[in-house]
Amino acid sequence: MPRIYLSVPHMGGNEERYVGEAFASNWLSTVGPNLEAFERAFADRLGRPAVALGSGTAAMHLGLRLLGVGPGDEVLVSDLTFVASVNPIRYLGATPAFVDSDPETWMMSPALLAEALEERARRGQRPKAVVVVHLYGQCADLDPILAACRRHDVPVLEDAAEALGATYKGRPAGAFGAVAAFSFNGNKIITTTGGGMLVAERQEQVDRARFWSTQAREPGLAYSHLDMGYNYRLSNVLAGIGRGQLEVLEERVRQRRAVAFRYRDGFADLPGLTLMPQAPYGLHTNWLSCFLVDRAALGVSRDQLIAALAAEDVEARPVWKPMHLQPLYRDCACSGGAVSAGLFERGICLPSSSSLSEADQERVIRIIRAAAGRAKGR
Ligand SMILES: *Cc1c(COP(=O)(O)O)cnc(C)c1O
Repeated sequence: MPRIYLSVPHMGGNEERYVGEAFASNWLSTVGPNLEAFERAFADRLGRPAVALGSGTAAMHLGLRLLGVGPGDEVLVSDLTFVASVNPIRYLGATPAFVDSDPETWMMSPALLAEALEERARRGQRPKAVVVVHLYGQCADLDPILAACRRHDVPVLEDAAEALGATYKGRPAGAFGAVAAFSFNGNKIITTTGGGMLVAERQEQVDRARFWSTQAREPGLAYSHLDMGYNYRLSNVLAGIGRGQLEVLEERVRQRRAVAFRYRDGFADLPGLTLMPQAPYGLHTNWLSCFLVDRAALGVSRDQLIAALAAEDVEARPVWKPMHLQPLYRDCACSGGAVSAGLFERGICLPSSSSLSEADQERVIRIIRAAAGRAKGR
């Protein structure tokens, strides 16, 4: 039996043609038609200008810099997330402070965020930015989050690395904050093998980020530099993969959702195994199919499930380990933390590739049902 992975790349068909065009025309660097077309298609989808970068982490880094984050600043950020939401805050010499999840959505709690902002305002402090993470394919509850940030005049960066294709009240993830970051890492809903996209409200912000991403070279022949840049631009070859992938995004969203709902149906009669919340305010892509394990009800723990799957060569993972539990960020402030800690303790991410066959998914479901002592009845 071949190994079943958590989330693998899934090409659409046109990627090789666009990559071939890059080779045929010798646009094999960080300039070229694939980059322009990829950015244009992405910008059309988001309704905002976009710049293609080497990673989602690079997009976070440049996005925070666009918001003026620097040494001594504080940035509020979702506690339950992948570490790449937070490291770029430190790259800029600023200090992250974490905000716990709302158990109804798993996303940043709007109430705790408002409280954290008010508490700081009373001390005469104001965070430089708020990073709100859209987890596992679903948007955070943006309206109250944006309202609280507006009240305190704090800009929002959306970490939409996991949420390309998701919507909030009919608009796409990434179209709400001052800036937003996306990832095309190999495990995301679409991939360029590695890559990212930064979108912003204003064209000049995106132009600035593009300038920084190519070493901040001043115009002219001499190598003059007024500003410090980075080598963060995506290559025209990889942008060709991105073009092809973006063409099949809608299909990938449908497939990922179908995987999640097949699991849900497959476990419908099992007490204590529940799909992560599907908030009514938008479309959840279910980039990963995440479930909460109630050990007492299911009769088996989250870690026992992961072990049972591993024994059959199936990859499953815990939900993200919250930032306040990371030794790297032990010294940072955190509003709450019990909700994200509980989600980490009980949450499991199951194989969720858009290419996952129904037969392979049946295998996963069978292993879990057997581990829970419910093999019969199917
Ligand atoms: C994947 C991911 C990133 C980083 O993206 P890369 O392209 O891997 O650098 C950032 N934030 C979150 C929440 C992610 O899941």
